[in-house]
Amino acid sequence: MKQIYTYGNYLKDKFGCKVYKVGINISGFTCPNIDGTVAKGGCTFCENDSFSASANEVQELKGFHLNLDSKENKFLDKQLLQLTQQFESISARQKREYGAEKFLVYFQSFTNTYAPFETLKALYEKALSFENVVGLSIGTRSDSITQETLEYLAKLNENKEIWIEFGIQSIYDETLIKINRGHDAANVKEWIQKSKKVGLNVCGHLIFGLPDETPSMMIETAKEAYKWGIDSVKYHPLYVVKRTALANDFKSGKFTPISEAEYLDVLVQTIQLKPVHVSVQRVTAGINDDSLLSPNWCRDKNIQIKNINAALKPIGLKY
Ligand code: SF4
Repeated sequence: MKQIYTYGNYLKDKFGCKVYKVGINISGFTCPNIDGTVAKGGCTFCENDSFSASANEVQELKGFHLNLDSKENKFLDKQLLQLTQQFESISARQKREYGAEKFLVYFQSFTNTYAPFETLKALYEKALSFENVVGLSIGTRSDSITQETLEYLAKLNENKEIWIEFGIQSIYDETLIKINRGHDAANVKEWIQKSKKVGLNVCGHLIFGLPDETPSMMIETAKEAYKWGIDSVKYHPLYVVKRTALANDFKSGKFTPISEAEYLDVLVQTIQLKPVHVSVQRVTAGINDDSLLSPNWCRDKNIQIKNINAALKPIGLKY
């Protein structure tokens, strides 16, 4: 059985050792799809009413939110401290438990280019100064990044490994409207291509099971994303959590989650169509707590991976 080309394989080939992503959550970052700049309420599947109440919240930063027009950031020192503390504690655990040797700092939660340029620079450069950090991965939206930021990241990419992660989700604008995404597919395509043009590495996030999408639409989305030039991909099923707009649609019967059989079928086909050099960072998603409303098969990650491997077996692949 041949192993799918994973992101872990990519990093190992490139750096010759175990490289782990360290997921960071900085207070004060928000999302233009929530703060009213693009829309309010966010994507229909996003649980964001507790936006500033994460486990890592710094008390003084409660209720403080940056945006691209913020003129100053009086809490930058606190954010830098938060970054350092999170990095130290997570990377130490990854070293201890998994033998991680080098790290990519992953700005994971919310929209991590949606802040004043000086704030972004300070945070990114601090992250790159930590011992054994080989680069950054920055999760963002395609409507929340500027050419100035892209060019600055391209400079950093000359000596470090810089990734940008864009939520593509679907190439169908009617779907993006249904999930209140706040931007269209052309915008994602434009910024992925601009990122590639300046030499950055791009990861695209895809969701299968979006409202009213057929399997062939999901497969077309993956095919297009590959054509846009993504270097890495994360595949997710759409699952419903409490306190979201999608939860209301699910309860009223307007939305039915994708079945595991259909997800596996789409996943196997999209993996078969994937260019060999595109690494895979994620083949599923879920949550194992009482916030999950449906589908139940998204609860247990181990069973999901077991079933994904069983579905990949006939085509000679494993994850
Ligand atoms: S872009 Fe991300 S953070 Fe913003 S509303 Fe959508 S899912 Fe939530």
